[in-house]
Amino acid sequence: MFGFGSKNIGIDLGTANTLVYVDGKGIVLNEPSVVAKNTQTEEVIAVGEEARDMIGRTPTNIVAIRPMKDGVIADYDTTAAMLKYFMQKALGNGSHPQVMICVPSGVTEVEKRAVIDAAKVAGARDAFVIEEPYAAAIGAGLPVMDPTGSMVVDIGGGTTDVATISLGGIVSSRSIRVAGDKFDEAIINHLRQNFNLLIGERTAEAMKIQIGSASVEKAKDIDGMTVRGRDLLSGLPKTIEISATDIASAIHENVLDIITAIKETLEETSPEIAADVIDHGIVLTGGGALLKHLPDVISDETKVPVFIAQDPLDCVAIGTGESLKNIDVLKKR
Ligand code: ADP
Ligand code: MG
Repeated sequence: MFGFGSKNIGIDLGTANTLVYVDGKGIVLNEPSVVAKNTQTEEVIAVGEEARDMIGRTPTNIVAIRPMKDGVIADYDTTAAMLKYFMQKALGNGSHPQVMICVPSGVTEVEKRAVIDAAKVAGARDAFVIEEPYAAAIGAGLPVMDPTGSMVVDIGGGTTDVATISLGGIVSSRSIRVAGDKFDEAIINHLRQNFNLLIGERTAEAMKIQIGSASVEKAKDIDGMTVRGRDLLSGLPKTIEISATDIASAIHENVLDIITAIKETLEETSPEIAADVIDHGIVLTGGGALLKHLPDVISDETKVPVFIAQDPLDCVAIGTGESLKNIDVLKKR
């Protein structure tokens, strides 16, 4: 069969982070989905962690690009270059693995094709896709194969994917382009409009992670933080104190959009599956699952118990890796 070094790997190609899972080893790489390029020569200068630290800090001849947007490929060549770099870093040069790679539910055939082609350009011998919420459910340890309904809500950087799953397949799903990045944008807009303060996306993300809350009410119990940016009136650097309530109200609309998507997905399922979900609860995965008070708020609105998966940021990669077992079955199709 295939020679040494042709391992199967799973890739969680996320809008915010890319994870590589090697069969038999587990997650071996976890880096931001960012590429720094020279604007004149198109040469790749840095990828991952190193490139992310350049966001908002690049001189005119360098750009830090996030090639994935809203869960899909926005910049094909840069995505392929990034995948190539990550695959080589994970496996060493010259390996041509079979790759299982995830895509959000509800992407078009063209978007799916683009992901498969990018993986092949990056060096994959063969590439297969798996729907992200399904992978998330496997990684969260949900009984996806059982004749019982499970619900998973994966809140990443670009999309929130909501799905009910039973008997090895997705029963109903929704993918909305509201997730971590939209929270960050809402925070940037809020500070600009209410405090005349301009902040960068890294700063907005740091505020969301440190003091962000899905509940405006419960944000009162969270300490505020000082934030630095540029005063839009004077153009000079400025430091102000922001309360957690401010941040919570900035992102509240987005939190409500996610809750609406969950409710709609529940409404679409059969009464049996809805009953199973009420019994077993909704499981949250993805980085957005860590937003403070999110489980309580979703639970209050849906009247269903809500849990955060163990290691929510790793679930999709683990599930994608687990599904490598099925790669031979997929090949026969
Ligand atoms: P993707 O799969 O799209 O790459 P991830 O599942 O890796 O996304 O999650 C990344 C998102 O989660 C980012 O928007 C990040 O800011 C957000 N995030 C990470 N930790 C937290 C936290 N503690 N609270 C709120 N959001 C978080
Ligand atoms: Mg993801």
